[in-house]
Amino acid sequence: MSYNVAIDGPAGAGKSTIAKLFAKEMGFIYVDTGAMYRAMGLYFHGKGITPQDIDKIKEGCKTVDVSISYENGKQLVWLNGEDVSKKIRTEEIGGLASSYAVVPQIREKLVELQQKLATTADIVMDGRDIGTVVLPNADLKVYLTASVKERAKRRYKELIDKGMQVTIEEIEEDIRGRDYRDMNREVSPLKQADDAVVLDTSFMNIEEAAKALKELFEQRKDA
Ligand code: C5P
Repeated sequence: MSYNVAIDGPAGAGKSTIAKLFAKEMGFIYVDTGAMYRAMGLYFHGKGITPQDIDKIKEGCKTVDVSISYENGKQLVWLNGEDVSKKIRTEEIGGLASSYAVVPQIREKLVELQQKLATTADIVMDGRDIGTVVLPNADLKVYLTASVKERAKRRYKELIDKGMQVTIEEIEEDIRGRDYRDMNREVSPLKQADDAVVLDTSFMNIEEAAKALKELFEQRKDA
């Protein structure tokens, strides 16, 4: 039987960095579901289809092909046969992903794919609805969070290090907007699962947070 660890939380809380570190140490596969929503945002936006064009989205969902594969433990995201792993990592696509993620047809399609992946190996999956919708029976559910200020500071540093030109105010506004959309949408809003453990990383570094996650998993596994 394979183990499933579910990590949910708002944008910039450190979910992917911590999950990746955990996966590496534990020999788990890391599944980044946000990347799949980003690929969908890229696809529909590129076609000029807005999140309100429900009929066109329904049609599009029948043919669009989003999948993931792994290369040296790194997740690659494919959109209709094209590797879009790099293209989707911008703030703009993050915002687009959150606008299209309110559409139930897009969510249904991706949730099915994510649930299938979870049966194939020991996985740690991060997103917004993993503990509540995708893996309700996960062995461990963690709600990873941090203050808006701290999340904005981290994201700012990341983008500046990549050579991007942004201001901390822009990033903070973007994070607040994304939090609002993700927490207030009708379908699968971001919320803490009743049985999730909260991990606030505002005052933790990555290693401390990954260690805390590992300890939580070990406790659960042996329980
Ligand atoms: O995690 P990441 O920032 O890459 O996710 C981009 C957007 O995709 C989120 O802001 C959220 O709106 C959406 N998403 C979601 N459900 C998930 C993962 C991501 O709605 N499981």
